[in-house]
Amino acid sequence: MFGNITLSIIKPDAVKKGYSMSILSQIINEGFNIITLKITELSKKSAIIFYEEHKEKYFFESLIVFMSSGPIISMILKKENAVKDFRILIGDTNPINAKKGTIRNLYATSLEKNAIHGSDSNKNAFKECKFFFPIEKFS
Ligand code: ATP
Ligand code: MG
Repeated sequence: MFGNITLSIIKPDAVKKGYSMSILSQIINEGFNIITLKITELSKKSAIIFYEEHKEKYFFESLIVFMSSGPIISMILKKENAVKDFRILIGDTNPINAKKGTIRNLYATSLEKNAIHGSDSNKNAFKECKFFFPIEKFS
């Protein structure tokens, strides 16, 4: 399994605006298989753990408030080269720089409220999938 899965989150801004189904359709149409999915909410404590790598950044506090501000959809996606291909599908972190047709280009509100998360490496994908799901059962 290692190497062909990635973790995605439809962030609170996109869920609130009603973009979830359009985003899920786009993900499926690009050939990603949704292995599992849940609608959930992050507590501030969980958001701090999830985004720990950014704890020294100036935007950290605001990011934590945003990510714990409402429902999210977290999911494990499977595809060959899942991590790399999914980062291409979501587009640049800053929607201003995201290529036309990417999820962030279509649905993001701002650099912070950028609609969707995608793991940035196979190692982090595995860690993040475990954060949300008991993924032993898929191995
Ligand atoms: P993600 O990890 O959510 O998929 P990413 O890997 O493209 O996004 P990161 O650098 O990991 O980008 O940043 C994590 C998240 O923090 C971004 O998606 C965005 O919501 C927020 N963020 C990043 N940089 C900034 C910034 N300069 N100002 C405000 N928020 C930011
Ligand atoms: Mg990241």
